[in-house]
Amino acid sequence: MAAIDGLPPLRDVIARHGLDARKALGQNFLLDLNLTQKIARTAGPLEGVTVFEVGPGPGGLTRAILSLGAKKVIAVERDARCLPALAEIAEHYPGRLEVIEGDALKTDFEAMAPDGPVKIIANLPYNVGTQLLVNWLLPRNWPPFWQSLTLMFQREVGLRIVADESDDHYGRLGVLCGWRTEAHMAFDVPPQAFTPPPKVTSSVVHLVPRQEPLPCNVEKLERVTQAAFGQRRKMLRQSLKSLGGEALLARAGIDPARRAETLSVEEFCRIANLL
Ligand code: SAM
Repeated sequence: MAAIDGLPPLRDVIARHGLDARKALGQNFLLDLNLTQKIARTAGPLEGVTVFEVGPGPGGLTRAILSLGAKKVIAVERDARCLPALAEIAEHYPGRLEVIEGDALKTDFEAMAPDGPVKIIANLPYNVGTQLLVNWLLPRNWPPFWQSLTLMFQREVGLRIVADESDDHYGRLGVLCGWRTEAHMAFDVPPQAFTPPPKVTSSVVHLVPRQEPLPCNVEKLERVTQAAFGQRRKMLRQSLKSLGGEALLARAGIDPARRAETLSVEEFCRIANLL
């Protein structure tokens, strides 16, 4: 029996193309099109939007994005075994799916961005997810080429992405995401939703770029957060010693007895701007 989009069920696609999941490629597939549609809907309206997807695998999320009316999906997949299955989807949606075989970490998404709105939606391979997110947060231009990022991570990483200073998961990633975006947790996905099930719960996170983030040099911001969170239990006078310690903090008007995890993004930017 065909699935809701008229294509074969994903379980059949996987069996027919011999797509046994490979751990080294972070392959945990989603086979439920209702769930993949829920992920795709988190990105908001898709009509007229070009979607970049990383790691389409057998295409469960790709199919959801296309069925919800995206103008086009440009998907980067490293595993050549998935290409015949994706070609069937491309045939079902003529001219709307372009698959690039390659490593997303080496892909210049900004250079590939067409005119018109772009959204990024992906169930990311866990071993490269955080690096891809950081790359998308640091494009050549800001506001960036994308309107939103809707991404699946391990829940633990998702919590770090959306964390602020009121939260135990706050760290370098939370500062970077909070500086450039408004990030929120959309929903959790239990291990049983994947084939094969991963060990931990996953979460879908949605990030929208701030149009005017606080002016700050990213390298300096990273130097400050690296030093501060590198010794997160220490007072800032100690952890920021190599960058100027007490004198730097006095200029920023920040109590040197505070710890990294109590500083807001605005305070981190204030320190970075004084380096
Ligand atoms: N999107 C599919 C789904 O939701 O069922 C598959 C998700 S699976 C977690 C991650 C996918 O990313 C796999 O298809 C894997 O082959 C692919 N992948 C892993 N590393 C990659 C990389 N560096 N660049 C592009 N794709 C990659």
